[in-house]
Amino acid sequence: MSALFDRITALRAQYGDRLAILGHHYQADEVLRHVDFQGDSLELARRIEGLAAEHVVFCGVYFMAESAAALARPGQKVHIPFSEATCPMADMAPAGRVEDVLAALREDGRLVIPLAYVNSSAEVKALCGLYGGSVCTSSNARVMLEWALQQGDAVLFLPDKNLAHNTANQINLDATERLELDIRQGGQRIDHKKAQYARLLIWPGACAIHHQFKKRHVEDLRRAMPGVRVVVHPECSPRVVRAADGAGSTSYLIRYCADAPSGARIAVGTECNLVNRLAARHKAQGKQIVPLKPLTCSNMAKITEERLAALLENLEAAPPVSLSTDVTEHSRVALERMLRICA
Ligand code: SF4
Repeated sequence: MSALFDRITALRAQYGDRLAILGHHYQADEVLRHVDFQGDSLELARRIEGLAAEHVVFCGVYFMAESAAALARPGQKVHIPFSEATCPMADMAPAGRVEDVLAALREDGRLVIPLAYVNSSAEVKALCGLYGGSVCTSSNARVMLEWALQQGDAVLFLPDKNLAHNTANQINLDATERLELDIRQGGQRIDHKKAQYARLLIWPGACAIHHQFKKRHVEDLRRAMPGVRVVVHPECSPRVVRAADGAGSTSYLIRYCADAPSGARIAVGTECNLVNRLAARHKAQGKQIVPLKPLTCSNMAKITEERLAALLENLEAAPPVSLSTDVTEHSRVALERMLRICA
């Protein structure tokens, strides 16, 4: 092990129970070897409530640390090793524009319920809490979309259009009942004639990584690896999801590989750090696990062992992730609604 590994291990021991480190599956192995809990967005959000630690260090992208800060108990400090590790998809839905678009949609007299994928800023989640909506993850998008559709006349799903369409396909919501919105000029370009009849109003965002997977990658792999099973994340386009053998959250992908029989050949369409880890984990059982295409998230990669060590060296003085009282209160409402509905 390296000097950096030893340093972080010593610092963790020094803090003891006062420190908890959480890490997302897309983090590099060098970072994940230091975490107390590893998981997807939903699993990590669930962890926050039970944590007594005074300092919570979140190894993931910024919106995840914000969610942790919203769910933290009073006095608990949430930190991220590098605050510029943001999610490009979350950045595609700035709160001001979301509020304008929601207002424009509600001008038609319809009760439009906002439902934000967890990959969104705390301000956007706060708008969801404020306007009767909630939050979802890729694990519970179906349950949450069904719930949101029952709360009003239509749902504004944001920011991931692929997850919106894939989830709508799961519940057989006809394409004629969906509308991808033109969000330019603060909602002034919305086609209100169409919006009035749509039950699912879709924000046109996408994940910079998963959107790069194409149907031809699935077809090429099937030719190159006869018998391969292809599983993908629902942030991939509906064309890719249709071409695959299965689609689901990172937890689903992990379970799929674990449950596959020995000798299985599996291509996984998600971030490469996770796929490489699954390949190494199941190699001894003769499973051949490969990435559908080797893509890493450059933003997740901004969290490094060096930055984690630097944060821990200075933890007492480091400014924690901080949200305004309003944003904390309303984003907490949205997050707690989800945790309650999906309990
Ligand atoms: S993998 Fe996609 S959704 Fe996840 S942090 Fe990177 S850009 Fe955002």
